[in-house]
Amino acid sequence: MEKVRANIRVNGIVQGVGFRPFIHKQISDHSLLGWIRNTSSGAEIEIEGTPERVQLFLEELWTKAPKLALIETVDYDMLPDLKHYTEFEIIQSKTEAERNTLISPDVCICDDCLAELRDPKNRRYRYPFINCTNCGPRFTIIKDVPYDRPKTTMGSFPMCVPCDREYHEITDRRYHAQPTCCPDCGPQLQYYGADGTLLADGRDLDWKNRAAAYSDPAEPDPVKLAAADLAAGKIVAVKGLGGIHLACRFDDPKIPAELRKRKHRDEKPFAVMCADARAARRRCAVSPAEARILESFRRPIVLLRKHDRASLPQISENAYVGVMLPYTPVHYLLFDELERYGVDSLVMTSANLSDLPILYRNSEAFEKLRGIADAFLLNDRDIHVRCDDSLMYVVNGSEYPLRRSRGYVPFPVTSFKPLPPILACGAEQKASFCLSKGRYVFPSQHIGDLKNIETYENYIQQIDHFERLYDIRPELAVCDLHPDYLSTQYAEESGLPVLKVQHHFAHMASCMADNRLDEAVIGIVWDGTGLGTDGTIWGAEFFTGDYGGFVRRGSIWPISLPGGDRVTHEIWRTGLSLLLDAGEDPEYAARSGGSSAEAFSRTHAAQVKTQLSLGLNCPRASSMGRLFDGVSAILGIRTEASYEGQGAILLEAAAADSCERVYNYILEERGGMLVFDWRPVIRQICTDLKDAAPQEVIAASFMNTLVAMAAETAERIAEDTGLHKAVLSGGSFQNMYMLARLPGELEKRGIMPYIHNRVAANDEGLSLGQLMIAERKMR
Ligand SMILES: [Zn+2]
Ligand SMILES: [Zn+2]
Repeated sequence: MEKVRANIRVNGIVQGVGFRPFIHKQISDHSLLGWIRNTSSGAEIEIEGTPERVQLFLEELWTKAPKLALIETVDYDMLPDLKHYTEFEIIQSKTEAERNTLISPDVCICDDCLAELRDPKNRRYRYPFINCTNCGPRFTIIKDVPYDRPKTTMGSFPMCVPCDREYHEITDRRYHAQPTCCPDCGPQLQYYGADGTLLADGRDLDWKNRAAAYSDPAEPDPVKLAAADLAAGKIVAVKGLGGIHLACRFDDPKIPAELRKRKHRDEKPFAVMCADARAARRRCAVSPAEARILESFRRPIVLLRKHDRASLPQISENAYVGVMLPYTPVHYLLFDELERYGVDSLVMTSANLSDLPILYRNSEAFEKLRGIADAFLLNDRDIHVRCDDSLMYVVNGSEYPLRRSRGYVPFPVTSFKPLPPILACGAEQKASFCLSKGRYVFPSQHIGDLKNIETYENYIQQIDHFERLYDIRPELAVCDLHPDYLSTQYAEESGLPVLKVQHHFAHMASCMADNRLDEAVIGIVWDGTGLGTDGTIWGAEFFTGDYGGFVRRGSIWPISLPGGDRVTHEIWRTGLSLLLDAGEDPEYAARSGGSSAEAFSRTHAAQVKTQLSLGLNCPRASSMGRLFDGVSAILGIRTEASYEGQGAILLEAAAADSCERVYNYILEERGGMLVFDWRPVIRQICTDLKDAAPQEVIAASFMNTLVAMAAETAERIAEDTGLHKAVLSGGSFQNMYMLARLPGELEKRGIMPYIHNRVAANDEGLSLGQLMIAERKMR
């Protein structure tokens, strides 16, 4: 039969993801001959075979490629002459001499391993560390490169003969799976009591006759014991991939209430783990896209809308619950056991104390969770790198990251062009960093608030770790303009040339890079606070510009913040400030059914009035986050925030979806900028309060007004500048109410909206923007 020759270029992430064994299998399945080699942008393949086989091979590149491979484009040429290849060869490329192989994120257990886990005849039946080339721990166990077993925390578990055989067989699913193991050679679970007494050890189980032994109810199986304790209402620490969780059932609200008390976590929502998507659907609405992302191998926490906003108050006080599905074999074994107790969901919250980094070592678990955990389900495989669960909304069918961490990191986001080596140091409270190499930008995992010394130490360690893993020696450090951020201080002490970038400009650039835009755009950047180029505090900005620079074209009337940093918790202060600036009587507003009389008492009002008039510790900020806080306080939704953003989150949750009302507002030209004056809006809110308008209507009207204001401002900027693309970034765009409306309003005005989809809109995503701005400066 006639043959053809095809030369195929695959662009994307295809190295270090099991792509070549996959190609090897496809080639032999389709009786093709030729070669494959890695290239700087992916892989080049040449094959000869019948036209049908070649066509099928091309199609299956898209449909059957390993799940970690991110194929962007496939180009091919059908060539006239045959080379008459006699075999299929893997050609070593020059780039392989460099450390160019990508390191995989941690991947949830695959279907094949899950089936083996539940198969009594399999030698890995009920073995909690089963994994293969397609699944298991990666990033969190890797100590150094090149990635092979001795350089992981699996190095202390030498492979047994059967495991070694599988490892070396190219047709085996465990071919070159570095963490592969079995009950004979791998780690085991241990179960400990509250005081650290060992209660059961997987090593003591009869693995040769596992099925028979398991049917004995008295068998001391760590999983059985943990499940029984969880079912009985105990709080159990469970070691996962990137750290330790605290788990408990929540169908009885007293149990999570006890966990909150012990963990000193008042009101912040807990994430939950549901046995499967069906269990999630019993509590929340799950769209097909949400189900796809919940069930993806990355297994992020997905914020799902509750069926009833008021349900599950013991888990979440807002309209959403963060849900994830099991991702390790241990999680599956636990839920399989819990089924007999009728439990299909657990609270699964990171084990840490008041915003410190997640615990990840057995020894610290016993020490730091004393008095919190009733028991510990741990194991003897060390976690080398801590990595929290990722957190996603799903917007228009795509991921909208709030936290990009486990399952995503350390995979790069691809850039639309090659980049020099740069270290972008990020912000402070939601710290992250990025390192670049070629067409890849490597964002770090979730780090946390650098003001905690342990978090800052982890930040420094992770920068070193990433630099070593990817062999990156940055030529420049880029950081925030704010001199007090610890990330700024890190950059200054790094010994590298330093570039400082304005906070909101970096947000704008981040959303541009996220969407692969490289042209002038309109940036709508709303968040808490960041230092502006004029020395004042910004936080609700309209810019135009590209990576090379920006012009500030719009903002909001600055808000006085009596008490400085205290306003982030004592949000009644901002509420009073808004009322007084708008000329309203706080006491009257409170009496009219708004905020509590105590928060807006005469004493408080007098105190704030004095501070305002003297300008005493009373910075002014054009901050969207603070505007939300203040309105939340005026409406009596919250007067104090017990966690970051609580006022804004609950204001969003309070809004009626069906309300279209918009308050009258003023856009004023001031100093070459369009300034939104919120004072008339505050006055209308007070009128509404006096008229006893429902809170859900006021909350919706307020956010509708912001959407209308943003759309009008952008439209006027578009008219002046001829720019018709707008990027939306900053922490305030974690607000799903506004995110569901503003893009549509922009489109109506002929402006193409762009939102984040690969990195977070909040400060965690900032470092990507810093990096792109620095790249432009270096040219
Ligand atoms: Zn597997
Ligand atoms: Zn083995």
